[in-house]
Amino acid sequence: MQMNLQMDCTVLKFNHCGRTIYTFDQNRLQTQNTERKCPVCQEPMRFSLLEAPIIVPCPFSNGHNTPCAFLIGASLGPAFISELQDKEIHVGVTNSQGVVYSYTSLGIQRQKQDWEQCLCIPLVAPGIGTDSFHTLWDQELEEFSLFPTWMPHRFEEEREFGSCCYGFALSFLNKLRRAQNSAVISKDDFTQFHVFPRVKLASKYIKVYQEICQHGFYIAQ
Ligand SMILES: [Zn+2]
Repeated sequence: MQMNLQMDCTVLKFNHCGRTIYTFDQNRLQTQNTERKCPVCQEPMRFSLLEAPIIVPCPFSNGHNTPCAFLIGASLGPAFISELQDKEIHVGVTNSQGVVYSYTSLGIQRQKQDWEQCLCIPLVAPGIGTDSFHTLWDQELEEFSLFPTWMPHRFEEEREFGSCCYGFALSFLNKLRRAQNSAVISKDDFTQFHVFPRVKLASKYIKVYQEICQHGFYIAQ
């Protein structure tokens, strides 16, 4: 089976033959089909209600449906979001309409698509997003993206200082924090508390997913 770059299969987890096994939902394990065979032992699988396969929550969500959020994506697809692939990772910030602003070598991009499968960190508590708040957020983000700091020719220059796309998104977050008299958050702290735990979880999911692509199943160690 080819590696699915879009990672849109549902992953199931179940216990059988003394193992914890992960597989894709394509076998319709959740239907009460007693003829289904375990991909590992090849014995027919019968589950009691409590043993029924569960869906493993996918760590990726649609950034365009997540207003006012910090997004972590990868241009080659979600499979490239992992601790080992940080060169491939691209981050951005959504406005209230789900348009993703990100800083690239071409300058600031405003995208209405291509961030359908990414890691989303909401920057605003649910319920705060009133219309006037959204208007203000969108204005601030648009104004911020027009700063000369984010000109295309400065991208490489910024990159040398380890900022680039990350610098843009985090600077915007800190601009809002300053306006609210909150302490600014350092890149290290933001990475450690908000980015790293999500990337770690995603890496685990990607590993399981890739194993299923290659072998049809994955056995938890
Ligand atoms: Zn089995």
